[in-house]
Amino acid sequence: MTFWIRINPQGCVEGSVYASYLDEDSTRGAHAEFVPDRPTRLYEAAHGWRHERVDRAEWKRRAEPCLLGDCQHRQVAA
Ligand SMILES: [Zn+2]
Repeated sequence: MTFWIRINPQGCVEGSVYASYLDEDSTRGAHAEFVPDRPTRLYEAAHGWRHERVDRAEWKRRAEPCLLGDCQHRQVAA
């Protein structure tokens, strides 16, 4: 199983979607799934937002703590 994850400029994963769910299995397709508005996507791409394709093991390691609010990124912010 493969996922796309959405990573904010602080390195925290804010969302994920199944790769098979996307119309276009690419960085662009993933970004469009999270952010339908194109000007917003251009802004985000220029300001450190990233989208990465990960397998289940990597999803569990990198995305799950963030999505549960249990990662080091949020502890630094709080
Ligand atoms: Zn995080």
